[in-house]
Amino acid sequence: MAQGARKSFRLPESRPHYPPHRYFQTNHAKIELSVDLEKKSISGSCTLELTPFSPTLDRVLLDACELDVRGCLVDGAQAEFEYDNETLAVAMKPASGTRSIRVDYKASPKEGLYFTAPDTEHPEKEVQAWTHSEPESARYWFPCHDHPTDKATSETVITVPKGFRVISNGRLLSTKEEGGMTTFHWREDVPHSSYLTSFVAGKFETITQEIGGIKLHYNFPESKKDDVLRYFGETPRIIEIFGEVTGVKYPYEKYDQTTVQDFIAGGEENINATTLAMNYYPEPGSEEDFQPAYATPFNNAVNLVAHEAAHQWFGDLVTCSDWCHAWINEGFATYLQSLYVEKTRGADYMRWEMRAREAEYFEEDENEYRRAIVDRDYVWPHDVFDHTLYRKGAAMLHELRYIMGDEAFFRGINGFLKAYSRRCADTNDLRKSMEKSCGLSLEEFFEQSFFKPGYPEFQVEYSWDDSSQAATLHVRQSQDTSDGTPIFKLPCDIVFYVGGVRKKFRTVLDAAEQTLVFSLEEKPTVVEFDPERWLLKKVKFDKSVRMLEDQLEQSQDAWSRAEAATALGKILSDGAVPALKAAALKEQFWDVRACAVRALGEIGSDSANAALLEVGLPANRRVRRSLAKALGSFKGEKTRKALVNILENDESPYVRCEAALALAKSWPDGSLPHLKRAMAVHSPNETLAEACLEAMGKIKEEETKGIIGESLAYGRPTRVRIGALKAIKARGRVAEDELGVLKDMLQDKEFRVRQYLVSVLIRELADARFADALKDVSNKDRNHGVRRKALETFYELTGSLEKSVALQKLKEEVEELKEDNRRLTKAAGPS
Ligand SMILES: [Zn+2]
Repeated sequence: MAQGARKSFRLPESRPHYPPHRYFQTNHAKIELSVDLEKKSISGSCTLELTPFSPTLDRVLLDACELDVRGCLVDGAQAEFEYDNETLAVAMKPASGTRSIRVDYKASPKEGLYFTAPDTEHPEKEVQAWTHSEPESARYWFPCHDHPTDKATSETVITVPKGFRVISNGRLLSTKEEGGMTTFHWREDVPHSSYLTSFVAGKFETITQEIGGIKLHYNFPESKKDDVLRYFGETPRIIEIFGEVTGVKYPYEKYDQTTVQDFIAGGEENINATTLAMNYYPEPGSEEDFQPAYATPFNNAVNLVAHEAAHQWFGDLVTCSDWCHAWINEGFATYLQSLYVEKTRGADYMRWEMRAREAEYFEEDENEYRRAIVDRDYVWPHDVFDHTLYRKGAAMLHELRYIMGDEAFFRGINGFLKAYSRRCADTNDLRKSMEKSCGLSLEEFFEQSFFKPGYPEFQVEYSWDDSSQAATLHVRQSQDTSDGTPIFKLPCDIVFYVGGVRKKFRTVLDAAEQTLVFSLEEKPTVVEFDPERWLLKKVKFDKSVRMLEDQLEQSQDAWSRAEAATALGKILSDGAVPALKAAALKEQFWDVRACAVRALGEIGSDSANAALLEVGLPANRRVRRSLAKALGSFKGEKTRKALVNILENDESPYVRCEAALALAKSWPDGSLPHLKRAMAVHSPNETLAEACLEAMGKIKEEETKGIIGESLAYGRPTRVRIGALKAIKARGRVAEDELGVLKDMLQDKEFRVRQYLVSVLIRELADARFADALKDVSNKDRNHGVRRKALETFYELTGSLEKSVALQKLKEEVEELKEDNRRLTKAAGPS
C-alpha cells in the first residue's frame, strides 16, 4: 500500500458502543471446573452471588457464549432458563437481598480458554490450558456480566490430572488429590472485573523472590529453568519502584508470573497472576540487547514484566469503566514502563525508548488511521487496543506531567488511585483527580489530548537581529485540521546557548501561527525547540550545518544532540562528516553515537564511508547495529568485507541481523551463500534466520524461492515462517504457485503468522486475489486482532470502504428525513 494513505478507523461495521445495562451487582463468583486436557473441554459450574438493584428483578441476564448449559439453580432451587448461545436468561421470583445463581455447564471453548499440546511438527510443545479473557472473552468459559464495571471477588476451584498444577488469582486455599486428579482451590478477595479472573494449568516449576513481604512467584516449564531470572529478575525492583511512584504499595498478597505455550499476547495482567509469552526468555549473554524479534528494538523482557506489573495498579486495582477509556489501563501501564526505565537507566534512555515506541504510533497514524484516544465507534472492543491507545496514551501522560510538574503530577496519581481503588474510572474521573492536586483547569488539555485526534506538526523558523539583540522564532502549527485535529495549546521550552550558558524559556503555543521574540545578550550558538522532549509532535526546524554541529557538541540534552546528528544526515553535507565521526567515537550517550553513525550512512559520500570504516566496531551493541545498517549504503570491497565479518562473527545476533539486511541491499548478487550460512546459526527465537530470509527478498527470485517455500511450512520456528513472508513482501509480489499456500496460511495454527499475512504482507502488496479469503477471516478468525486487521485490509483491497461509509451516511440521512417527515405528518394530522 502506498505510504501516507490514511484510512478511517471507522469501518462500515463500526457502531457506537456504550456499557450494557446491568441490573445487579455481582459480589462473588465461584467457578468450579474439571479440565479435560486431552479433549480440550471443561465441565462444572459457576455460582454468582449477586444483589439486584431492584427487588422486583425477575430475570438475570448473563453473558455466556457457546456453553452447553445443563441447568440453573436460584437460591438452591431449580430455575427456568432460556439460552440463545450468547445470553443466558435465568428466571427468578423477585425478592430483596442477595441472590445466588448457579449455572451448570460444559464447554469446548474456542476463545477465552485455550488448550495446547504437542503435535507431529512440534513434539516439544507443553500440554497446558490457560485463559485470556480481555476484553470480553470470559463469557466463553464462565457465565457472568462480562464488562469491566461489575467487580466481584472470585474463587476458582479447578480440577486437573495429577502432576499438573493450577495457578490462579489470590491465595491458594487448598489442594486435594482424589482418583488420579488434583483440585486447586484459589480465592481472590479484591473485587475485580470478569476479564481479570484467570487460571493456568500445566507442568511448572517455580522460583520465588520477595519484596516488602510480597511473595513473587515465577512459574516456568522445566526447560527454561536457567533463563528464568533473566526474564523476571527485575520484578522486585519494579514492584518497589511502582509502589514509590504511585504512593500505593503493591495491593495484593502475592504476585504470580507464569509463562505459557503459544500465548496470544506478550502478557496479560490477570489480577496478581500475570500470564506471559515464552518468546521473551533472554538467552545467556543476550541480556544487553535482547528482544524477541529484531524488528522491535525497544521490546524486551524487562519492559514486558514492568508493563504487566504496572497493570496491577492501573487496570486491575483501578479499571477503565468502558473500553473506550481503556487508555486508563494501557496508557498508564506503558508510561509506568518508562518511569521504571527513567529510575533505573536514566532520563536519556527513557526518552530514547519513548521515541522508539511513538514511532509505531506515527506509523499507525500516517498509514492506517487517525483517531481520538477515547473513541466509541468500533466494530469489536479489541479494536481500540492499538498504538493510539498505548503509545499516544502514554505520551499524553508525559505531557500532563510536564504541565503539572512532578510533585503535583505524582500526588495527583496517588489521589486518583486512592479515590478509585477497587472501582472503575473514566477519563474525566482522572482529570478531576489531577485538577484537585494542581489547581489547574485541565479540561482544555484533556479535550485536545484524549477526545480529539492527532498531534501538532510544528514548522519553526529562527532569525537573529543584531541591532536589537533579539532572537525571533516564528512557529506555525501546520497539521491538517479538517478531520477534527485541533490547533493545540501546549507549553513548550525554547532553549538558547549564549556564551556557553543554557537559557531556558517556557512559552505557550496556542495559535496556528505565532511569533516569539527573546532578548539575549549575544547571538546564540544553539537554538532548541523542546530539547527535553516533553511533547508528542513533529517538528520541521531547518538549521545551518554550523548550528547543528554546535548543537551536537554543546547541548546538555542527549535527545537534542541525537536530533542534531540525524538532521546533519538529512542535509547530506559532506562538511558535516568530521563532526559526525567525532560524535560516533566520543559522544557519551550511546543513542547519539548510533544516530551519528546512521547519519554518516545517510550522507553516503566517499568521506562518510571512510569515516565509518575508521569508526571500527563500536563496543555498544546498539551502536554496532546502527553501523551495520549504515554500511549498507556503500558499495566498496572494504565495506562488503566489514559486513561479512559482522554477519559471521558478531556476538550479538541483532547486529548480525542488520548486517544480513545491509549485505543483501548493497550486494544482491553474491550475498546468498553468506545468508544461507548465517541462517543456520541459532539465535533467540531464530530471529537471525528471519532477517536472512527477509534479506533474500532482495535477491533474484529463482535462487531463493525454494528456501522461502520450505521456510513457510508449519513446524518451522514462528520467526522463520514470518521471515519467509517478509521475503515475499520484500520481493514485491506473490508468485502464482505460492498463492494457494498463503491462502491456506490464513487458517494457520499460529496467530502471529495469520496476523503478519493480513496486516502486512497482503496489505502492503495490495493483492486483491486475497479479498474473499480476507472477508472470510474477518468473519471466522477467533483472534480479535487478526479479525480486525483482516477486515481493514479487505476494505483497502476492495476500495469499498469509502463507498460503504458514504452509502451508510446516505442511508442515515434518508432515515432522518423519513423520521422528520413522519413527525411533520403526525403534527399536522388530526389529534
Ligand atoms: Zn497492557
